Amino acid sequence: MDVRPHVDGLRAGLLRVARCGACGTAAFPPPRVCPRCGARDTVEWFTASGRGTVWSAVVFHKTYLAEHPAPYPVAVVELAEGPRLVTTLAGLLADDLRDIRIGQAVTAEIDANREPPRVVFRPDPEGEAP
Ligand SMILES: [Zn+2]
Repeated sequence: MDVRPHVDGLRAGLLRVARCGACGTAAFPPPRVCPRCGARDTVEWFTASGRGTVWSAVVFHKTYLAEHPAPYPVAVVELAEGPRLVTTLAGLLADDLRDIRIGQAVTAEIDANREPPRVVFRPDPEGEAP
């Protein structure tokens, strides 16, 4: 599925995800068939709020890429709009990694220093989402 609208959004500083044009269910990556209503090829793109919660997280203790020296977190963040993104959490020191909690509130941050840009999430110091 074509994710260029998402990548173009990141270049413009926006977190865009897809939704079904028939029922509004958000999804990412965009499915050809809506998982809720079954509509086909009705993808619309919209700008997400950037708010989410940690749905799952692990800490990698092996360096696979030079830009991610171990240890580093790999998380699945559930956006307020529903889609879940595999991502990393920004702004954490090695000692902070064991404090990552399921349900912890996070906010999207676009890393424009990479090509293509990517979205990462910064834990909200306020803690858990409502
Ligand atoms: Zn739908």
